[in-house]
Amino acid sequence: MQQHPFHLPLLEIPASGAQLTITDQTLWTEGIAEFHLAIEIQTPLRATVSIQKTQEGCLVEGTIEGALCIPCNRCLDPCVFPLSTHFRDFEPLPGEDEGDLVEETRIAEENGNLFLDLSGLLWEEFVLATPINPLCTPDCKGLCPQCGANRNRETCQCHEGAGDPRLAVFRSLSIPSK
Ligand SMILES: [Zn+2]
Ligand SMILES: [Zn+2]
Repeated sequence: MQQHPFHLPLLEIPASGAQLTITDQTLWTEGIAEFHLAIEIQTPLRATVSIQKTQEGCLVEGTIEGALCIPCNRCLDPCVFPLSTHFRDFEPLPGEDEGDLVEETRIAEENGNLFLDLSGLLWEEFVLATPINPLCTPDCKGLCPQCGANRNRETCQCHEGAGDPRLAVFRSLSIPSK
């Protein structure tokens, strides 16, 4: 596996803490490509991170700011959403516990050294800050299910209830979206 620059050795974090500003977009673009997300970066994202080591692990606090372009969930028009999030995470040192009480952590031991997976942490915060149901406007009318016309821009000739009355029962069924 490729060594990621955001895979931080804890040894290199001074006792007074570390401050990082991340303007490199590859962290986001790689994740977006890997998970095939329909997200484009509209305004480059800027992450600021402060890491404080404690006896038990690392306190990671920071912000991610920028803007994303995401298709509307109903009409698929590209829409710009500002992204602005503040997070505060505590990552415990990997537990010695046997059994299933081991806490989840983004600190892992490799070759006798402890590393903080900052890219994984930032990616998770990015995903949490991304709109779950992006809409161009709260009352977006979406696409006509029959002809695909954007109902925000045009009134198509399709009428609900038109067509073969024997099929009407099927029209009242909702089709789960992919
Ligand atoms: Zn829309
Ligand atoms: Zn239509």
